[in-house]
Amino acid sequence: MADIIQLLPDHVANQIAAGEVVQRPASVVKELLENAIDADATIIKLIIKDAGKTLVQVIDNGKGMSPTDARLSFERHATSKIKTAEDLFDLHTKGFRGEALASIAAIAHVELKTKQAQEDVGTCIIIEGSNIVSQDVVVTPKGTSISVKNLFFNIPARRNFLKSNAVELRHVIDEFHRVALAHPNISFVMYNNGSETFNLPVSNYRQRIVNIFGNKTNEKLVPVTEETEVLTISGFVGKPEFAKKTRGEQYFFVNNRFIKSAYLNHAVTSAFDGLLKQGTHASYFLNLEVNPQTIDINIHPTKTEIKFDDEHTLYALLRSAVKHSLGQFNIAPVLDFER
Ligand code: ADP
Ligand code: MG
Repeated sequence: MADIIQLLPDHVANQIAAGEVVQRPASVVKELLENAIDADATIIKLIIKDAGKTLVQVIDNGKGMSPTDARLSFERHATSKIKTAEDLFDLHTKGFRGEALASIAAIAHVELKTKQAQEDVGTCIIIEGSNIVSQDVVVTPKGTSISVKNLFFNIPARRNFLKSNAVELRHVIDEFHRVALAHPNISFVMYNNGSETFNLPVSNYRQRIVNIFGNKTNEKLVPVTEETEVLTISGFVGKPEFAKKTRGEQYFFVNNRFIKSAYLNHAVTSAFDGLLKQGTHASYFLNLEVNPQTIDINIHPTKTEIKFDDEHTLYALLRSAVKHSLGQFNIAPVLDFER
């Protein structure tokens, strides 16, 4: 019998990986914004057209890339962020898998312009469906601009699967909110079809929330703080009387990364026990700082789920901190011994 196993060509492997990393325009927004943050940008601009289906562009003023790195950045498993497997358990960057740009370039038309501060000129690379079309020297500001056009141009089935512009825009804005909330110390601007949708100056956390969700949010916020050896909690919960029928504004960030956790959500909502009208949901914006060595982020390509070493302690601390805050602000009688 002849041998039948073959190694998949890189562009096929990249398309397969892209299936996990890039579901929709919002996934591209997330990956590009995170790369800009990892590059220490202080000003980040997001430009989209047709809810990102035609264009997602992120422009940052971060550290940029050398010409060689610019080319390498599109290779699969190419990353400047980790070197060894041990690094996976002590992560200080958003990225580490080195597959976002390779995945995106496999399924879109991408243009990268990048320049490092000390250089006079930068690099422009055009890559389409994993094929490098050109690499040139360009005059461009310090930092990086990546344009992702015609998402899924070569996978009609995926393109047809995209929802209406209204729905895709919602996802893009959700992603933008998550990143902007995690980094109030960075200025973010977003343009949709040529008009400015958000302009978020550097601010404190409360102000960032208000800038995103509107002035009336300010009076709804109750601060939550807690500091222990294993965990620092900061942020806000929404007063119960403002609870909504939809689950909109519920945010957990662990070490500045937005995460989803039904378990921690339960810890917070159970602290509201008896305070919420049936069928309404509390809002919360909570930041947890933990030792990076006590969490595992590498359980899913989109990195929105985390494994904690000691989930139970986190649950108890979070629940008690929220309860305490609600009590302090006279929102519910909380007995002293519950702390
Ligand atoms: P990861 O973020 O997991 O390392 P990516 O595919 O997203 O993988 O990016 C690959 C590499 O390209 C990064 O490790 C980084 O060195 C470089 N890079 C990507 N985006 C930027 C950017 N906006 N500014 C500077 N370097 C970048
Ligand atoms: Mg990345």
